[in-house]
Amino acid sequence: MSLLHTVKVPRLPVSRLEPVIGASRSARLSRAAGQVRQLLSGRTIWNVNSTAAGGGVAEMLQVLVGYVQDLDIPIGWLVTTGDAAFFAITKRLHNQIHGSLSGAPLGAAEAGHYAEMLAANAVELAARVRPGDVVLLHDPQTAGLAAPLAQAGARVVWRCHIGVDWEDEVTRSGWDFLRPHLAAAEAYVFSRREYVPSWIPADRTWIIPPSIDPFSPKNAPLDAGAVRGILVKLGVLDGAVPTPPAAFVRRDGGAATVSRPAIIVGESRPGPDDPVLVQVSRWDRLKDMAGVMRGFADYVVPGDDGYLMLVGPSVKDVSDDPEGAAVYGECLLQWRDLSPAARARILLVTLPLDDIDENAAMVNALQRHATVITQKSVAEGFGLTVAEGMWKGRPVIGSAVGGIIDQIAEGTGILLPEPADLAAFGSAVRLLLGDQDQAARMGQAAHAHVREKYVGDVHLLRYAQLIGTLIGEG
Ligand code: UDP
Repeated sequence: MSLLHTVKVPRLPVSRLEPVIGASRSARLSRAAGQVRQLLSGRTIWNVNSTAAGGGVAEMLQVLVGYVQDLDIPIGWLVTTGDAAFFAITKRLHNQIHGSLSGAPLGAAEAGHYAEMLAANAVELAARVRPGDVVLLHDPQTAGLAAPLAQAGARVVWRCHIGVDWEDEVTRSGWDFLRPHLAAAEAYVFSRREYVPSWIPADRTWIIPPSIDPFSPKNAPLDAGAVRGILVKLGVLDGAVPTPPAAFVRRDGGAATVSRPAIIVGESRPGPDDPVLVQVSRWDRLKDMAGVMRGFADYVVPGDDGYLMLVGPSVKDVSDDPEGAAVYGECLLQWRDLSPAARARILLVTLPLDDIDENAAMVNALQRHATVITQKSVAEGFGLTVAEGMWKGRPVIGSAVGGIIDQIAEGTGILLPEPADLAAFGSAVRLLLGDQDQAARMGQAAHAHVREKYVGDVHLLRYAQLIGTLIGEG
């Protein structure tokens, strides 16, 4: 059985971005692509990560790889395999780099298993990758591939999507684990400068924020009827409303309809016009679904209208996130302990991941239906869900951590300086759920901000510069 899996991504026409980004940004992207093509002269760019679905990295690769194909640049995406012990280790590493210690510190046994698992993947990778190919390794799950790939003649770039703005003993222990593996990379990419450990050479470090795609099933326009149809199909709206078709467009352009329901924990459902607050996240403690529930139950339910939907992927499906089921279970227990009034206004929603495009359309409809979006993470590498919500013209209430700080510009939402302050969270929610005009104004500004800073062309241009420097240096 092979350990590496190729992810097939449909080619996406870059030209469709032009109405959003304008002619001059479009032309700049084409010019940069031409230069990269020339520099690569037939060599391939490989992306390597540990899951094809679920989470921000997979979300971005699904579209960026499609655009790069359309720009006639040879590109591939490979997903590695690990056993449960491996993903338990990488989850602990992920948490440590986010400043949160889960379990005992990682020791020699874990280091040995991590290296062994990746060495097995590296054998297969080295057979696919040719000398001179550029390999983008994503996140801690793949860092141990850098040395064997460099040895095989690849130009290795390590792309880290996580981090926190501070350094302490916990974050240092995570980095100490990875450091020996990372020495072989020629360049390093982080989402924010604050995330770069001090020992990574500054002249080989690139700061490249993530991006969203305006035309993916996650973000493409959906009319009000389709939104309503999808929500009714999911089962999150009061069943009495009429049900138009739950239609959406797949990445490959095909027409489709949402056919699977969500698994919902909730005692009642909002009507179509009730204000709704939505957080979409993996079931990960650092996303603090539990804190959002507590804050809403204690500070919004008693005096104000509105519903909360906590939305995440089905917990059996995100292979590199072994804590998902436990965190969902904790939320469920907490929900059962809520007052009846709170249970009537808070829904836990898990979305099937059997069909990635369908899952994306579900998220799209939920974000579009939301009056306000929140992302009250304790730590956040970037927080794509923030840009996704802003793109849909929704104001976002987010913790002032990591990439959320960069995204929520003045007038586009509310930043919470202290994510654990549930009273402050509650008053931000009450303010925006209760003032639809202000929410709409902020939402418009949010959309414009994302168009300027977080659409894929900006992201791809930065990669083009990186590859130009890497290959240009010889
Ligand atoms: N997401 C999804 N389906 C779900 C839950 C989440 O597609 O059921 C997506 C979400 O829309 C976003 C990504 O997963 O695109 C999460 O990225 P983010 O950067 O917010 O956090 P990460 O999971 O990478 O920590």
